[in-house]
Amino acid sequence: MQRENEFLSRNDVEDLNDLASSIADYYFPYGQIDPIVIAEKNNITYSFGNYSDSFDGLIECEDEDFHIFINLDRLKQAYSERARFTFGHELGHYFIDNHRNSLLKGLSPSHCSFTGFQSKNKAERQADYFSSCLLMPELGFRKYCHRKKFEYRIIDELSKKYGTSKSATAIRFCAIGNHPIMVVYAYENKIKWYWSSDDFRFRWLKYGKDKLPEDTVAGEYFTLGRTVAGTEPVYAMDWFNVKFSNQAELPFKEHSLLQGKHSLSIIWED
Ligand SMILES: [Zn+2]
Repeated sequence: MQRENEFLSRNDVEDLNDLASSIADYYFPYGQIDPIVIAEKNNITYSFGNYSDSFDGLIECEDEDFHIFINLDRLKQAYSERARFTFGHELGHYFIDNHRNSLLKGLSPSHCSFTGFQSKNKAERQADYFSSCLLMPELGFRKYCHRKKFEYRIIDELSKKYGTSKSATAIRFCAIGNHPIMVVYAYENKIKWYWSSDDFRFRWLKYGKDKLPEDTVAGEYFTLGRTVAGTEPVYAMDWFNVKFSNQAELPFKEHSLLQGKHSLSIIWED
């Protein structure tokens, strides 16, 4: 995880991973995790409805009973990747002690969640992280990666295996994958967030946190309208702020998913 982007403490990261992975392994020792079943087993009721643009998900507590709302207006259908992720996020508000206690005390009256690592609110970040650990439990994820050489296909396959989005899967790979990668998400050529594995060689992007570097697949998509579907070779200096000249031409690979105003780039050393 990028230092300056660090929004969860190391303790948080470990605790949330332990909590979510143990719940996942308990209810689903094999196969894909279904957050709906976890809700049912914990007597949490839920509804999928059309609530326009007001939230992705919501958890309410009334007389110690919990109810989850999932907004299909924003998440398409109940088993979409984003609906699953949002359901996992709302379960986080139930399973994380502090969150549940403040819901029980009526201190955080049913707040609206916008999920997918977009919120700056700490509780929201915690619930997002919980969800990614719940849907992609550590042991199975590591086992799948074991001894596989990294290429984009791995993210693609893991995302299918776990029913998670490419961005959530790549972020999870940063934390527990077997090869250092960086993930950069941009909207309209502006970088919204980026993450990297702790042992990724470079810390800083070429233009910092704001603009995509122009000589990259993602950069050319926005500036030249050029679309490349596969994995492309790039040099370290194309993406990163390179301090030593002998590192400028280190070979990296970039795989960018480009759609409309969005780009999601996965970058790794060749
Ligand atoms: Zn939330």
